[in-house]
Amino acid sequence: MKRKYRIFCDFDGTVALNDVGNIVFTKFGNAEHWWKLVEEWRQGKFDAREMWRRQAKISSMNSEDLKKFAKTQKLDPFFSSFVDFCRDHDLPMYIVSDGMDAYIKPILERHGFSDLDVRSNRLSFNGGNRLKVDFPYYELGCGSCANCKGYHVKRETKTDEVSVYIGDGYSDICGAVEADIIFAKKDLLTVCREKSIDCIPYQTFQDIIRFFRQNL
Ligand SMILES: [Mg+2]
Ligand SMILES: [Zn+2]
Repeated sequence: MKRKYRIFCDFDGTVALNDVGNIVFTKFGNAEHWWKLVEEWRQGKFDAREMWRRQAKISSMNSEDLKKFAKTQKLDPFFSSFVDFCRDHDLPMYIVSDGMDAYIKPILERHGFSDLDVRSNRLSFNGGNRLKVDFPYYELGCGSCANCKGYHVKRETKTDEVSVYIGDGYSDICGAVEADIIFAKKDLLTVCREKSIDCIPYQTFQDIIRFFRQNL
């Protein structure tokens, strides 16, 4: 029987070449403060929701800043081909992110991908440059992530489907372990190796297209 796939794809460092969240919150916030928070989150001192709340308090930006900023951000050179490939082969695909819609959406729009299904946290602007952060998926997750990617993989994947997770970092772990097939690079690859979790190392979306060409 033909295998049916459902694909879950991280944004920062995976679809976007840069870890955009890091750049946004060091550029429009305070770099030292941000990296300290990230380190403490990695150590499990607080959940990602708390990390975002604390950083939002000391950051200053608005939607115009992020629109301008979006023009400077590049995507994986094969992401566009991958989106076409998924459409041509009816492979459902989601962008799952523990980052913020306010920078993800302008970047995707700028590259012609405004219609992708994005599941992320929400960042809005209370007039001026003050930030408001919301976490619509927090209660549904593991309690450590702000938007737990594992929840989306579990919820969306039907029993006869094969879930595929593509990611690069620590916030991908919950999503990856719920998936049937993991594509991993950078920190996610390191963690998978440390924990003896089966995964396929990759460099760009070209590797993933190649996999599906051989396995559809
Ligand atoms: Mg990432
Ligand atoms: Zn989680």
